Amino acid sequence: MTRVLVVEDDPQLVRALVLNLQARKYGVDAAPDGATALRLAAARRPDMVVLDLGLPDMDGVDVIKELRGWTRLPILVLSARRASDEKVAALDAGADDYITKPFSMDELMARLRAAVRRTETAPLAPETVLVVTDDFSIDLLAKKATRAGHDIRLTPTEWHLLEILVTSPGRLITQKHLLQEVWGVSHSNKTNYLRVYMAQLRRKLETDPSHPRCLITEPGMGYRFEG
Ligand code: CA
Repeated sequence: MTRVLVVEDDPQLVRALVLNLQARKYGVDAAPDGATALRLAAARRPDMVVLDLGLPDMDGVDVIKELRGWTRLPILVLSARRASDEKVAALDAGADDYITKPFSMDELMARLRAAVRRTETAPLAPETVLVVTDDFSIDLLAKKATRAGHDIRLTPTEWHLLEILVTSPGRLITQKHLLQEVWGVSHSNKTNYLRVYMAQLRRKLETDPSHPRCLITEPGMGYRFEG
C-alpha cells in the first residue's frame, strides 16, 4: 500500500483529502503542522508527502528543506498563494510538483500517480561517479561540485538538472524531458525555468558563462553536456 502523509491545517481540506485517498486505497497519515509532519515522516516513512505551504508553526518551504536533509520521497506542494516566488522557492527546496488551491481531487490524484511513477522509474545510481571537465568537476556520489579547487554550492534543483545532463555526455536532452524529470509533467512547457537554471549553473560552473564550453544550449531543442 502506498502511504501518503498529508500536511495541512485546514480540517475540511484534510477530511476531503483523507476520504479521497482512502477511497483510492492509499494509506493516509495527517499532520496539522510542520513539527508533527516532520515527526510523522520519520516515524511512519510515507511513500509521499502532500504539503500545504501555509502552516501555523513553520513555513512549508522549511519543512521541505528538513525532509530533503534525509529523504528523496516525492513532495507535492499545495499552494494557496498566487505568488510564483513561493512556488519557485518550494521547487528549489526540493518539492517535486505543486498544485494551486482550489484544485480538483482528480487533478491531485493524477499528480500523485505521476510523482509515484517518477520515483519508480528513477535511474539507479549512475555508473559515472566522477565527471571531470576543463572547467569544473562533479562527484555524483558525494554530490560535490568544484571549480578551480573551490567547492561550488548547488541547490537541489540545480543538482538534479546537472545530474541528468552529465550522465548522458554528448547527448541532446530535450527541454521537455528535463522539465518533466526535474519539475514534473505539469511543467513541461515552462522553458523559462530551464533558461533561468541553466544560466545559474553556467555562472557557477563555467569559466566563461557567456561562452559555455560544457553546458551547451541547442536553441529551441534542449541542452547538451560536453565533457
Ligand atoms: Ca494552510
